[in-house]
Amino acid sequence: MKGIRASLLPTLFTCIRSLDYLEDKVSNEYAETGSLIHCGIEALHKLKSIDSALAVMAVKQSDYPEANGAKAVHGFRRYAEEQQQWGSVSETEYPIAFTLAPSPIDPTKEEIVIEGTLDQVRVANGIETVADAKTGSKSIKWMTRHYAPQLAAYQYGWFVASGRKPHATIIRTQDALSGGGKFWHPVPWGWDTVLDIMDAVRTLVALRRLGLKIATGGDHCEWCPAGGIENCSIGAKKEKGKYALPVATSIEDLFK
Ligand code: SF4
Repeated sequence: MKGIRASLLPTLFTCIRSLDYLEDKVSNEYAETGSLIHCGIEALHKLKSIDSALAVMAVKQSDYPEANGAKAVHGFRRYAEEQQQWGSVSETEYPIAFTLAPSPIDPTKEEIVIEGTLDQVRVANGIETVADAKTGSKSIKWMTRHYAPQLAAYQYGWFVASGRKPHATIIRTQDALSGGGKFWHPVPWGWDTVLDIMDAVRTLVALRRLGLKIATGGDHCEWCPAGGIENCSIGAKKEKGKYALPVATSIEDLFK
């Protein structure tokens, strides 16, 4: 099985059907604006200059035609102005990859590969933390819940790479647009929760490998590689019965 991107895990937790779209890339204004900000942040830490990072963003903009350039520059600038308050950066754009043992109910018995790139590792007040920059406008409460599986995967990935158990923090760049405020949001969970979430990944993958086809249309479709409910096989059924998700009439139907 191809590796599951850590960034797909929040969608997997709301819709196991999304596992069928591992090959596809999420592409929309939100995703591309975020990618452009990430380019700027990476360049800032490599080149140590805001102007040089902005120049890199200008060049990279053609790679992200759907990005909102003004929003990206605004978010990047606020990040660049404030980021020194949050300790020192030891790694940026660090690739992680690890395997999870299959769940006992997994019929394939194949390991699960998780891969991704964590934004940065910082040491602040003697505490090592993986920090993930989020560029959306959702509240920090929403982000903390929604992105928990992704952040936990970065924490676990860094543990596998370094042997150390890091904390995790969300950097919410959109705080810039609401007139300032706090950018730096440590997550409220401990290491046991990270392990619980990895266990939940094993179970969800096993359910899909068992053939369970449950798909749940909702806000999360926006971040699904299928690109929206109209593109996934559940969406194809929507054509027949407008807006009606298929309803299983028996437990066997779920496994068809
Ligand atoms: S588009 Fe929505 S319903 Fe379809 S697989 Fe993706 S998350 Fe599930």
